[in-house]
Amino acid sequence: MGTTNDVVVVGGGIGGLATAYALARKGLRVTVLERSSEFGEVGAGMQIAPNCTRILDAWGLLSEVESLGVRPKNLVMRDAVDGSVLTRLDLDDVQSRYEFPYVVIHRSDLHGTLLRACQRAGVELVTDVKVTGYEQLADGAAAVHAGGRVEARVVIAADGLHSVARPLFSDDQPVNSAYVAYRGAVPISAVAGKDVSLEDVVVYVGPQRHFVQYPLRQGEMLNQVAVFESPKALAGQEDWGTPDELDGAFAGSCAQVTEGLPLMWRDRWWRMFDREPLMHWVQGRVALTGDAAHPPLQYLAQGAVMAIEDAWVLSEHAGAHRLPDGGVDWDAALAAYDAVRPEHCRRVLTTARAWGELWHLDGEQRELRNELLRARDVHDYSFVDWLYGPTALTPDQEPPMFEPQPLGHPVTA
Ligand code: FAD
Repeated sequence: MGTTNDVVVVGGGIGGLATAYALARKGLRVTVLERSSEFGEVGAGMQIAPNCTRILDAWGLLSEVESLGVRPKNLVMRDAVDGSVLTRLDLDDVQSRYEFPYVVIHRSDLHGTLLRACQRAGVELVTDVKVTGYEQLADGAAAVHAGGRVEARVVIAADGLHSVARPLFSDDQPVNSAYVAYRGAVPISAVAGKDVSLEDVVVYVGPQRHFVQYPLRQGEMLNQVAVFESPKALAGQEDWGTPDELDGAFAGSCAQVTEGLPLMWRDRWWRMFDREPLMHWVQGRVALTGDAAHPPLQYLAQGAVMAIEDAWVLSEHAGAHRLPDGGVDWDAALAAYDAVRPEHCRRVLTTARAWGELWHLDGEQRELRNELLRARDVHDYSFVDWLYGPTALTPDQEPPMFEPQPLGHPVTA
């Protein structure tokens, strides 16, 4: 590892690789330090909205991503109990409106695309380095690990929910939602003859649970996500979210959901945590990005998307603040990044929580929600305009946020 880095990125997930690639595209020397023995992602799917595909296109990566993924036709919301259709987003229309597609893709395919792009751009990719601390330097910072330290003009922490850098900014802890996610990506033949849409993203919303299905890899695979509130978590038990809770949580769901459940992986599950929004991510020459800065609950499918937006915004500001000697005025670039991204991500984090509450309603509130969703104009984009449009580079470009109306009040568009 050389000591002439412009940038060290800690963590080689989607956020870290996107940051490394975006900055390398600006001609900067970038090193990524990853604690694992290889770069990789879990073998499940993810959704990437037009605010992400717009950036991938600007980076020259969209055609590769599209060739690996699927462009679904609709995002359909159905009731998890009776299976009825509540509302939908027409994703062809979404593409026309926002000029870029909504894509679903295997995580390892998106991660692999970014990894290959980093390799082509000359990013130094280092595995087996677990960063344990950070130091500020006169004109830079250092990432410290058991074998030494790596210096750079700037160090970007992209080390996820349990970020080692986060305590430099806040003494907060991850917030436990008591919800847990099971995943399962299976060959499409596993659902032959079943009532499964092979061209839509379908979300079944129900009391304290939801279930997601969408195709992957040109329709060769089906991705499923089952999310539920864990009774053991609510009871304060340590051992929560285990497979014995999965089937019970989905009892009384419609056939499309119960038929999908046996296909879930049962050997691993993801407890769902977010954090309170953090309004500053830059301290000296250390900055946070991705889940280290803003881990969300996943209900808006914007976690990795926000990380890619962070990378784009930071790199655009680095490019705009070049010094005559070819370096970057990092203090100015980081300040511009910090001025715009935390507020956007605060909005996403808080909206995702509210979204989850809406999805998981029970009883009369569920009935009322369903009525309102069925009455919704499917071409009303007021609740995604602020998300799917171009990523703001400055606070004045940030669009007004959609303010959901409490149930029982008239919904205005
Ligand atoms: P991570 O993916 O957590 O990567 C952190 C990396 O840093 C890892 O490689 C880790 O090994 C490394 N690391 C950690 N600590 C250290 C250290 N000390 N030193 C060196 N390396 C370290 N987002 C979407 O946009 N769309 C979706 O559809 C979507 N669906 C989701 C569904 C579920 C069930 C879940 C749980 C999440 C979903 N997300 C989705 C969110 C998305 O997965 C995350 O927001 C995103 O992966 C965060 O990326 P990251 O690179 O910031 O962090």
